[in-house]
Amino acid sequence: MLFTLILFRVLLSALTKYPVSRKGRKTRKTKLPLHKHTPSGKRGDDIRPKPPLHVTCSTWLLPESCEADVNTSENIMSLKKALSAASPLTLRIVAECPVTKARACDLILPHSAVSTPVFMPVGTQGTMKGITVDQLEGLGCQICLGNTYHLGMRPGPDLIEKANGLHGFMNWKRNLLTDSGGFQMVSLVKLSEVTEEGVKFKSPYDGKEILLSPEKSIDIQNSLGSDIMMQLDDVISSTLKGPRVEEAMHRSIRWLDRCIAANKNPDKQNLFAIIQGGLNVELRKACLDEMTQRDVPGFAIGGLSGGEEKNDFWRMVTLSTDHLPREKPRYLMGVGYPVDLVVCVALGCDMFDCVFPTRTARFGSALVPWGSLQIKHNQYAKDFQPIDPDCQCPTCFRHSRAYLHALFKSDTAATHHVTIHNIAYQLTLMLSVRRSIVEGRFPEFIQTFMKRMFPSRDQYPGWAVDALASVNVTLE
Ligand SMILES: [Zn+2]
Repeated sequence: MLFTLILFRVLLSALTKYPVSRKGRKTRKTKLPLHKHTPSGKRGDDIRPKPPLHVTCSTWLLPESCEADVNTSENIMSLKKALSAASPLTLRIVAECPVTKARACDLILPHSAVSTPVFMPVGTQGTMKGITVDQLEGLGCQICLGNTYHLGMRPGPDLIEKANGLHGFMNWKRNLLTDSGGFQMVSLVKLSEVTEEGVKFKSPYDGKEILLSPEKSIDIQNSLGSDIMMQLDDVISSTLKGPRVEEAMHRSIRWLDRCIAANKNPDKQNLFAIIQGGLNVELRKACLDEMTQRDVPGFAIGGLSGGEEKNDFWRMVTLSTDHLPREKPRYLMGVGYPVDLVVCVALGCDMFDCVFPTRTARFGSALVPWGSLQIKHNQYAKDFQPIDPDCQCPTCFRHSRAYLHALFKSDTAATHHVTIHNIAYQLTLMLSVRRSIVEGRFPEFIQTFMKRMFPSRDQYPGWAVDALASVNVTLE
């Protein structure tokens, strides 16, 4: 009798704690702590995070660019609408330069809208060298790169998938682009071998033989959950000539088809094709003709920026943008020198990435509108100005050249400070470029930028003069 009574009480208490729903499932009623409770028990301030004021530049860094930008509240509403649409990518052309091939677009990706032209900083194992995710967010960065090769090797896609993908693992709420891993493999691993199946290599961690096939690359990138994934392409040196260039171009097309078929998340993750063909006009054109017949969300221009002549480089860039569809984003891979960015925007490119600003920071080189400052040099030991008096980044706001010079002798924090400044410089440059396109004065912007960057006209690089002349800008 006593036992029955105890059993009845236990059952009653369990039912009260987990009331049975109408469908018969047990549900736990929980209340989200949306309001702070004051000691008297009354509702206090709303502690839910407030939405950012601006979709594309929710940052303290660039207040004037926000004012001049196109993101009025009406525009933000339509961007949000587009974000919730079924397609994982929408490109809206905001303005086109009437003189050059430059354009300013809103690239709407699953995690947020990106204002183009855009520079995308490069991370490796889920971190940016010398800068934290918080700092990157504070600088207004809307998209950065994750490195599939490094992440695929260590900590590995399974662990990252458990952490809700690379966004969850890094706790990065904005967009991510992942590369295919192929470039790293060919450039970092000595014993790699390319066959039709994929790239075979020995793991530098445990010596095991691994095959990175197009399917495997997409499988890893699906686990990482990036907003933009890159196809695996057959990477060769940009200076290589002969039959291997043609073989690599055709193989990259075949691998693109295998990547498209392997993508498990076409509704959430965008796969970009990579145009190959080396420095050969006919091969580039053939690759462009073939790849643009595939309905991929965007295109990258690959196989450049690897030590080829700059005259060959810009001609291949402009040839590619001439043949790429207007309504899709164009990503020029591995380009990040300030002059190259401005010229290639004029040639019609929208997206760029490069390790340059973070790598050069580690050597004490700070980017400025008139070139760079070598902070380690003794001439800055007693210089109390910021790196760039016009820069609004946290480093320039707080520290002098003299302090950074002294810090470089003893502390790695110096690298962090210069990295923050260099990324801020690249992001601000691209926002200024965008603003000038939107306001219809990009050709004038180019003239001012070049005059500031070079002390005299005879120091302008010949390739930049020619490239700009090809899009109707004659440098003064
Ligand atoms: Zn700065």
